Amino acid sequence: MRLILLGPPGAGKGTQAQRLVQKYGLVQLSTGEMLRAAVAAETPVGLQAKDVMASGSLVPDEIVIGIISDRLDQPDMKNGFILDGFPRTVPQAAALDELLKKKHIKLDAVVELRVNESALLDRVETRVAEMRARGEEVRIDDTPEVLSKRLANYRTLTEPLIHYYSERRKLLTVDGMMTIEHVTREINRILAAIGAVEPKVVSAKKAVGAARKTAKPAGKKVAKTAKKAAKAAPKGKKTTSSKAGRVTGAGRKAAPAAKGRAAGTAKKAAKKAVRKASKKVTKKRAKR
Ligand code: ADP
Repeated sequence: MRLILLGPPGAGKGTQAQRLVQKYGLVQLSTGEMLRAAVAAETPVGLQAKDVMASGSLVPDEIVIGIISDRLDQPDMKNGFILDGFPRTVPQAAALDELLKKKHIKLDAVVELRVNESALLDRVETRVAEMRARGEEVRIDDTPEVLSKRLANYRTLTEPLIHYYSERRKLLTVDGMMTIEHVTREINRILAAIGAVEPKVVSAKKAVGAARKTAKPAGKKVAKTAKKAAKAAPKGKKTTSSKAGRVTGAGRKAAPAAKGRAAGTAKKAAKKAVRKASKKVTKKRAKR
């Protein structure tokens, strides 16, 4: 799975990226982290980036594009990746499109974490306080002044990417104001809905089981009908357990239709059989 996480500073990209890394074994590519490492190691890139980053401005496109291009060639990329903090400008997004095309890599989705700007300063202040409490080094650009510059840059340079990816039907928007847990769940749900990850399954087999349970009185017949439908359903097809609710763009395009159809057929048949069976039982009872 190949994803981009999009959102302003403090939106929770890093937190959610970590969770995706753990769950799906992806590699997180954070240009911010890479640049900070370059600054610390005083590499030529680091020396160029140091003051720019401290002031809250963006490092020149060529530098970050170069970093990402090199990174995409590493062997650990083959299990998939999450881009966090890149692309950050339309030219970076266009360059990424070119890179991916050249390297024959397909992007699955761009997940936008949407948050109220008024919450961001608080979030960053909390992050700083927590880091201090843990005795960790605080980022020099995590001050209210520099943060407001980073936010202004986000608005003018990065926000146009929402339109860019929405036009390309790649954008999935998640409400980043929910709790961390909820945001994670929502991201997993929409990724399942577009077929990027294995959805929570309601398999044809389970549908048969459910039919058996519900249709006790008519027992065998129901199970048989459901089994037939399950057989008719292509093997291995699964369906999502919840609807594709707020999925936009990529989601709409790849709506779970095809995947759901298989088990859907089994479920429908099972339901029909259950209905039939209960009618029979009612009739029998009436006769008695
Ligand atoms: P945040 O998203 O919280 O602002 P990051 O850790 O992603 O922080 O980035 C920190 C700084 O690194 C940015 O303010 C910028 O100077 C630089 N940077 C990171 N990614 C990019 C990028 N894609 N293009 C230009 N500069 C970048």
